Amino acid sequence: MSTFENLGLQEPICRALHAIGYENPTPIQAQTIPQILSSGSDLKAFAQTGTGKTAAFSLPILEHLDTSNKSVQAIILSPTRELAIQIGKNIQEFSKYMPKINVLTVYGGSNIEQQIKELRRGVHIVVGTPGRTLDLLKRKSLNLSNTRFVVLDEADEMLNMGFKEDLDAIVRYTPKSKQSLLFSATFPKEVEEIAKNYLNNPIEISAGQKNTGTANVSHEFYRVTEKTRYLVLKRIVDLNPEVYGIIFCRTRKDTQQIADKLIQDGYSADALHGDLSQSQRDAVMAKFRGRNIQLLVATDVAARGLDVDNLTHVINHKLPDQIENYTHRSGRTGRAGRSGQSIILANRNEVTKLKSIERILKQPIKESQIPSGEEICENQLMHLLKKVKDNSVDTSKVNDFLPQIYNQLKDFDREELIKRFVALEFNTLLHYYENAQDLNEMIINDKGSRKKSSSMNMTRFFINLGRKDRLRPSKLMGLINEQGIGNGVEIGEIDIFDSFSFFEIDKNFSDLIQSSFQKNKPVFNNRKAVIEITKKDPSSEGKRGKKRRDRKDNKPTGFGRKRRRK
Ligand code: AMP
Repeated sequence: MSTFENLGLQEPICRALHAIGYENPTPIQAQTIPQILSSGSDLKAFAQTGTGKTAAFSLPILEHLDTSNKSVQAIILSPTRELAIQIGKNIQEFSKYMPKINVLTVYGGSNIEQQIKELRRGVHIVVGTPGRTLDLLKRKSLNLSNTRFVVLDEADEMLNMGFKEDLDAIVRYTPKSKQSLLFSATFPKEVEEIAKNYLNNPIEISAGQKNTGTANVSHEFYRVTEKTRYLVLKRIVDLNPEVYGIIFCRTRKDTQQIADKLIQDGYSADALHGDLSQSQRDAVMAKFRGRNIQLLVATDVAARGLDVDNLTHVINHKLPDQIENYTHRSGRTGRAGRSGQSIILANRNEVTKLKSIERILKQPIKESQIPSGEEICENQLMHLLKKVKDNSVDTSKVNDFLPQIYNQLKDFDREELIKRFVALEFNTLLHYYENAQDLNEMIINDKGSRKKSSSMNMTRFFINLGRKDRLRPSKLMGLINEQGIGNGVEIGEIDIFDSFSFFEIDKNFSDLIQSSFQKNKPVFNNRKAVIEITKKDPSSEGKRGKKRRDRKDNKPTGFGRKRRRK
């Protein structure tokens, strides 16, 4: 394994890295650092968030810096103020043991006069957002004529945010002789274009599949309808009592509404979006960083550059408009070697986009069943008991009250006491989920959510399991999905009867599902599941189904009744 020392970095930098807990270089660092140290070639790097790219470009820049020269030697452009601040802070940490290096972070909304003063005093590295950087250049307060390095960090995001013209203008202020370094998580046509225009014969580096950031993230999706989207979101949060994550929404309005609803329903959440003033955004981010709130409901733009390492979840309340942005979102979790979960709530339309995301991720997105109220309550109860057993509760504070407490509770035995305390903690949740519907069924039964049986694209199957086997639509879907025929395969109408059932499936997958059942021989509730194509005209399905029942099932109860409810 390589070390920072044998990548060629000087001792004070290595010392600073060890002091902040960087033991070994990440893959992007191991590739980029020696490249920039040894050659003046431009660089085009595919790197996602959370891969350690800040150090990848900052460390060789620090190594090359001439501290006796007071002119700006590196300009680092980043899409957001938060990311710029983070980069500036990181560079200060990396250079802690070096001779004094002046780093200035410039961004809109901050005091420009102060920045001009500092520039006059002499700055070696400027980190900035494109708008403010250009402003300072136009005022002639920033001089980039001696710049040796231009870094475009998160180039795709800068273009997404409409900074193309600003970038073009900034680059015109820099000398020809500079070394340009471009980092991007995705390379759509627009990024390729600026890479072509700004970079001269670049060396290409990809830490793509080696990117531990995404390898540590598991991806799963839950089917939703618009009616159930929020309910599913709550169930996911309830299932994960220790959740610390970002819920991504597409619009500012959605972001505020979801955050308001969550807060109203008693969750520890807040909203982050562009309609908030800078001080409101700072306050929300400080609360989130300090873990005073568990859930940050945010737009993509507002959450850019928010650098929090230990997020457990990223929840995609809706998929981003550009599916490439999904990797930006999911890269917020699973950072710095930790594992994380990226969850997608997908309606029928969104399910069709998952294949393309899987291709980008080179990882499957697994379908999960929406947890039932029972599962959630059980999970939370077990979580509470684990906390009690693990001694993670600080009991020292109650010591002084113990004599009084014992006295008050002296008439209850151990069992009664446990029961009462657990009930006290759980009654609200148990009550809430007491008669909770099976959302999986509700979604399957939603008229708009599935194709009608008359669809020419569906094959109808008979399966030898029914209500008596405790088969429910959600379980049947689970059984089908477990056969490994791939996610996003359209499952049509499902009719469950007492001893058998019918389901429809995209006809392109009918051979595959038959062979999978034959090969896997799945067992459901101790019964081997067998399927057969029914070559029946779906419009006369009741009658035909009856024939089937007469053959396989003597009890006519409930037959002919379509399973569609409410
Ligand atoms: P970045 O992609 O630069 O935003 O880095 C993502 C996270 O990984 C940040 O929290 C860094 O502090 C951390 N990090 C970067 N490089 C290393 C390393 N070599 N060892 C440990 N942590 C790192």
